[in-house]
Amino acid sequence: MVNKKRKEKKKVVSQNWEKYRILLIELKQKISREIRHLTEENIAKSQRDASGEISGYTYHMADMASDSFDRDFSYTLVKNEQELIYLIDEALSKMDSGGYGICEFCNKKITKKRLKAIPYAKNCLNCQEEEEKRIRKEAR
Ligand SMILES: [Zn+2]
Repeated sequence: MVNKKRKEKKKVVSQNWEKYRILLIELKQKISREIRHLTEENIAKSQRDASGEISGYTYHMADMASDSFDRDFSYTLVKNEQELIYLIDEALSKMDSGGYGICEFCNKKITKKRLKAIPYAKNCLNCQEEEEKRIRKEAR
């Protein structure tokens, strides 16, 4: 294995991202815990359902509906949170390779305020708003 030493000029890390790195890592841990919790809860729930503990009872339609709603809901939640983890990882690797805090669309700096609120943001507020407008239009 060739350990390719990066000869290219080291990107000057003009920004000190440590604060944001900590934010991201903490967020990632929190989300991982939530995913684990949701997953365990769901597994327990389906095992309970499958074991027929509740056989003998008549399932109320309403119960069934809300049950499957719960499951869909937490499934979506897990999916969203997994996407978040992906974004966080991306942001963390950008901190090392350079490019963190730069909008992927217009290459402008993302404001500190935005990064503080969404440390894994990959676009600036302007581009985000444009994107949302576009999505809303498409949804129509
Ligand atoms: Zn932008």
